[in-house]
Amino acid sequence: MIRRKKTKSVKVGHVIIGSSAPVVIQSMTKVPTVEIDRCVRQVNRLVRAGCRLVRIAVPTRADTAAFAKIVPKVNVPLIADVHFSPERAIEAIEAGAAKLRLNPGNIKNPKSILRIIDAAKIHNTAVRIGVNEASIRDLKKQDVPIKKRTALMLMEMKKYVRLFEKSNFDQLVLSAKSSDVSRTIEINRKIAETFDYPIHLGLTHAGLPEDAQIPSAVALGTLLAEGIGDTIRVSAAGNPVIETQIAKQILIALGLYKRTKPELIVCPTCARAQIDITRLAKQVEKALLSIDKAVRVAVMGCVVNGPGEAADADLAVCAAKNKGYIYRKGRKISTVPESKIIPALMKELKKL
Ligand code: SF4
Repeated sequence: MIRRKKTKSVKVGHVIIGSSAPVVIQSMTKVPTVEIDRCVRQVNRLVRAGCRLVRIAVPTRADTAAFAKIVPKVNVPLIADVHFSPERAIEAIEAGAAKLRLNPGNIKNPKSILRIIDAAKIHNTAVRIGVNEASIRDLKKQDVPIKKRTALMLMEMKKYVRLFEKSNFDQLVLSAKSSDVSRTIEINRKIAETFDYPIHLGLTHAGLPEDAQIPSAVALGTLLAEGIGDTIRVSAAGNPVIETQIAKQILIALGLYKRTKPELIVCPTCARAQIDITRLAKQVEKALLSIDKAVRVAVMGCVVNGPGEAADADLAVCAAKNKGYIYRKGRKISTVPESKIIPALMKELKKL
């Protein structure tokens, strides 16, 4: 069991980040913010997929005006993503942002930051300080060693945090991102050592979903396994629902997210497989879509190793030539012809 590092508790609308609260999945809308109905639909899709916070970019005044109209139409706290403009930050706070994302690399003027802090205090808006490796001028060169990179990012974070702390503002979430897995792990370890604010984990511009999922799982999974990280966002090009699904898989793999749907286990298959396991597994996967139970179902290719390897599954089918042996919690309960495997599994699932 993972022991999470104890952090402060930060309130983002009705969602708590940090302390003993479960790790929060968040994602970002990818349609123009001014297209209010499309934006609302995407927010709702993300919530259905498992997001408990959704971030929306507000690059222009028209976007913050649209943001104000989106807030009352959704049931999830919204985060405003702000770059460069203190005005946008203040407008977003006044528009009802439950949290603001600021990048120290592009809002630097202490007076502007103090104005944002004052507005955030009045409106109970939390703030994420998101240090981004690509926004730090000295880190744009390829050959800067990892130790120096980490030290520079940490210094940038400390400077910014100090400004908030001087103003007695502690509703902070911290993030430090890079597109490199090792550097992301290193800087977040340092941040966890240095501060007790909750940490937002993510990799920047990770790629298309098929390319993004492994680096994200390695970086975020390593940190989460060490107890670091209170909210996560997987970045991938395209549909943000896929980002959310990847984030959920990472948390489920670490036991940090309660599964509500069946888990399908499939043997890798080898020369002992007696039937087309991939085809059977796809059929089982499709049949399981209608089941809302956190059960483990195993599809195994033979009775040599299948029963043993599927012993901890609630239900398993181990294939033999033209037939399948059905197991419930490691005990064989029936033998059915290949064509009857799916109905037999479904019948047993209903009984569980
Ligand atoms: S369960 Fe059987 S078919 Fe599948 S990988 Fe193991 S030995 Fe091979």
